[in-house]
Amino acid sequence: MSVWREPEQFRSACSSARKDGQRVAFVPTMGALHEGHLKLIREARRRADFVAVSVFVNPTQFGANEDLSRYPRTLEKDVAQSLEAGASGVFAPDTAAMYPPGDCTRVRAGQIAEPLCGQFRPGHFEGVATVVAKLFALAGPCLAVFGRKDYQQLCVVRALARDLFLPVEVLGIPTVREKDGLAMSSRNAYLSASERSAAVAIPRALSAALQAFRAGERNAGALVAKARALVEPIAVSVDYVSLADADTLRVIEPSETMGERALLALAIRMPSARLIDNIVLGEDSDPLDQDAH
Ligand code: AMP
Repeated sequence: MSVWREPEQFRSACSSARKDGQRVAFVPTMGALHEGHLKLIREARRRADFVAVSVFVNPTQFGANEDLSRYPRTLEKDVAQSLEAGASGVFAPDTAAMYPPGDCTRVRAGQIAEPLCGQFRPGHFEGVATVVAKLFALAGPCLAVFGRKDYQQLCVVRALARDLFLPVEVLGIPTVREKDGLAMSSRNAYLSASERSAAVAIPRALSAALQAFRAGERNAGALVAKARALVEPIAVSVDYVSLADADTLRVIEPSETMGERALLALAIRMPSARLIDNIVLGEDSDPLDQDAH
């Protein structure tokens, strides 16, 4: 049996694997898997004997006007692809299994959840922290693998594991990109053909800021302006283009000078989807560099 529908089946599969002396890795997803997710699963398999993937579209992390009802659901294909990439099984609970009647506990992520997406998606990171805490409680001691595409989410999850003393090691994997540099995302499926071609402005914007950084620019306002100029023309609205401390996510003000490493993160709204992307200046490769991904 490689699909667990019930929380207790998932818990006991992970715990049996550990009893057999296997190292357990866990890759949480919302499904509609693409090459980015598959890279996480392959990396998990390289580091562990038993790899559990979860596919759960978590309602508590969606705002009232967000895309919960239209979020793509492709479970059968997700299971086949997960197994092919090295997963031992897939946990695919329904909503009532994760949030049964009477469920009332929520995990509030602190400071790290406040800037960037936290300003524009109230309650989002509380939903993320809550579901990840539930999933970690079921998985038990493991290596949990997340993507750096959702950089702030990765930071929230690291803080969650640390602050609640959870027996989980959190690993972040670099963003997997399409040939033209666009970060892979389940939400790219929403884009019309013309939006999809325009979306290349996002990796171009990050790349332009990286080029300026490499040429010696360290003023936050100038670096942000470089990126913003490229995404503004394709966006219905820009939620943010910000430079932030890569560990604390404290936003670096336009007048400030960055050090040798900082997160450049953005979120823009296109007609059919809200897209996010980021790079760490001073650490990540150029998103337009084909060989790097
Ligand atoms: P999601 O299904 O969008 O919730 O994503 C599940 C996991 O896959 C999260 O840890 C994401 O950060 C990661 N992920 C999504 N897209 C990518 C990508 N393009 N590259 C690397 N990881 C990704």
